[in-house]
Amino acid sequence: MAESKKTTDLHSEIKYLKGVGENRARLLGKLGIKTILDLMEHFPKLYISRKLSAHLEDLKPGDMLAFTAMISWVDVHTSLKGKKILNIGVSDGKVGLICSWFTYPPVYEKLFIPGRLVWLNGTISEFNGQLQMVHPDFELIDDSEDTKDDFWKKREVLPVYPLTEGISQKLMRQLMYNAFSLYTGLIEENMPEYILTKHHFLERHIALQKMHFGQNPQEIEIVRRRFAYEDFFYSQLLWARHKLFHTTTTTGINFINKKQLTTALYRKLPFTLTSAQKKVLWEIFNDMCSEKQMSRLLQGDVGSGKTVVSLFAMLLAVENDYQAAMMAPTEILAEQHYETISQLLKDSEIKVCLLKGGVYKGKEETKNAIAEGEAQIVIGTHALIQKDISFKRLGFACVDEQHRFGVEQRARLARQALHPDLLYLSATPIPRSLAMTVYGDLEVSILDELPPTRKPVRTIIRPSSKIDTVYIEVRKELEKGRQVYIVCPLVEESEKISLLDATKLYEYISKKIFPEYPACLLYGKMPVKEKDAIMKRFKAGEIKILVSTTVIEVGVDVPNANVMIIEHSEHFGLAQLHQLRGRVGRGSEQAYCYLIEHQPVSDVAWQRLTTMTKTTDGFIIAEKDLELRGPGDLFGFEQSGMPQFRFANIVRDQEILKIARQDAFEVVRSDPDFSQIKNAIVKKMYHHQYTKKEELILY
Ligand code: ADP
Ligand code: MG
Repeated sequence: MAESKKTTDLHSEIKYLKGVGENRARLLGKLGIKTILDLMEHFPKLYISRKLSAHLEDLKPGDMLAFTAMISWVDVHTSLKGKKILNIGVSDGKVGLICSWFTYPPVYEKLFIPGRLVWLNGTISEFNGQLQMVHPDFELIDDSEDTKDDFWKKREVLPVYPLTEGISQKLMRQLMYNAFSLYTGLIEENMPEYILTKHHFLERHIALQKMHFGQNPQEIEIVRRRFAYEDFFYSQLLWARHKLFHTTTTTGINFINKKQLTTALYRKLPFTLTSAQKKVLWEIFNDMCSEKQMSRLLQGDVGSGKTVVSLFAMLLAVENDYQAAMMAPTEILAEQHYETISQLLKDSEIKVCLLKGGVYKGKEETKNAIAEGEAQIVIGTHALIQKDISFKRLGFACVDEQHRFGVEQRARLARQALHPDLLYLSATPIPRSLAMTVYGDLEVSILDELPPTRKPVRTIIRPSSKIDTVYIEVRKELEKGRQVYIVCPLVEESEKISLLDATKLYEYISKKIFPEYPACLLYGKMPVKEKDAIMKRFKAGEIKILVSTTVIEVGVDVPNANVMIIEHSEHFGLAQLHQLRGRVGRGSEQAYCYLIEHQPVSDVAWQRLTTMTKTTDGFIIAEKDLELRGPGDLFGFEQSGMPQFRFANIVRDQEILKIARQDAFEVVRSDPDFSQIKNAIVKKMYHHQYTKKEELILY
């Protein structure tokens, strides 16, 4: 262990904290803890109590509860089918209860020891007249060993931290104790006095201590809101300043709706636009024909027809003698858009180009055509915003799957010489109430209607024990020449959870079930080139069955694939299930989505699955998702493109978001540069955290 240096700054590296050192510092780094302050801001994921909770008496099946009990016995036995089952008996001193695990990592057998206290959380069920909890969440209350410092031994309520391998709960608690006993005096306030008073927030150094050492869960929850507010307040200040700057300084291009190219396309489309498409086009054209630089988010469910909407906007730019660009996150998507758009414009004179990364034949010519202004519509990957690319007259740009790009990358388009109008496309159906506030400075257009030609995907829940019937039905589709996706949550067997994994499933499918159809395995960690190659072969119909983790490229259009099988569907969030299902049902054939469930399935998981069978409307699904999400249950949310906060939970803390947003906009309205004395802290914190970000997005 390294010598603890005397520290005078909370931004000192964590390795200097008493009890840390190089090795542990590296492990803590995996949790995002780099400095002493980071550690102090590493909040518990839950709190447990040492006190035996004595209310097991009145329980009935279906009750959900969290409680602390004593382990009375542990039993492992093997079922008739040869599977191991772990049962433990727990007691509140009077009444007993059995907790059972039907699948579990081997280490569980060593964890549970009679006499130990354990905290449990789950739903009560009944088996042969005996009350039971199947696969409850648990935390062992670990005070049997020699703790040098008995600080934690005396506490009734204990924090439970998110951990990483090599850092135990006990160690984490010890480090928290060390950090706060040495450095509490150095914690700085980051909110102005008048905000603290207005919302009755505790001072920061007190609030931080409560988060770790608080003994009253209700009180801790009130304190937590202060931190959620901090997150929102500062990020909304950024948007407020951005909006102010934007409306006062930049002028965009004043396009004129000449109705030449756009009308020609309208007449030639093989379908009629939905009324939602017409409505958003009207909003977009209004913006483009005004002086201000457009910054608009187009939100539309998978398959709602965002591409053709963007094409109309591109044509408006082109008929005004400007260039238009579309940026996509992957080569395969860029190529797909290039083909679609070239096809729709094939009888026109408009020059459409494709620009990809790396070196390839013909790239120099494309670059020249862009620089000379000859290339009127340019579709590309990140290559579009590289330094060696310069547009002659870029007037409009759209960004597909916008969440796949960083703020900086988007800003590079915005900063182009002529202040092009910008359209960001997103397939994440975030409920309206949230979209307006979360995206801060963007105007939002919503495509809430699918083309009428689409047949809703038929969605079927099947237990894993009936998987053979699914394969029989799927075979019929394969025989008709259709293609199939099979999705699995994990790629390899994991020590932590025992689920079917994609690698094994792939072996099984390709050797045992459908040996006569070409299949491939696709997963996240594969090199991009390999992934792209597999997707291309699937698109071309060479591969019939694609077994994958959830990486199937968002937005990829393979109309011939009409079957989606989701293994362990009980493990997926609603947003993710919806995105996955959106991969099928793109052709004229009836499409099927099989949700395979493996027992045990929790109540909430079951509600998610049934929601999927009841509706295909992304907005309804998003609302239901909000309703079902418990605290901290953010599965699948990270990928959805919502901004991430340190302390706040956008779903749970919507009310705080509203208040913080109002406050932030008010501060910027009355004191845009934070020069008043009362805002001195705001100025300092803002410059510390956000100046760099501001440079990236203000232009
Ligand atoms: P997404 O919004 O998911 O990007 P796309 O733009 O890829 O959706 O459109 C999905 C499919 O629907 C495409 O094949 C497109 O040609 C078709 N499409 C778009 N608009 C309409 C419409 N109004 N009527 C019928 N089909 C449409
Ligand atoms: Mg798309």
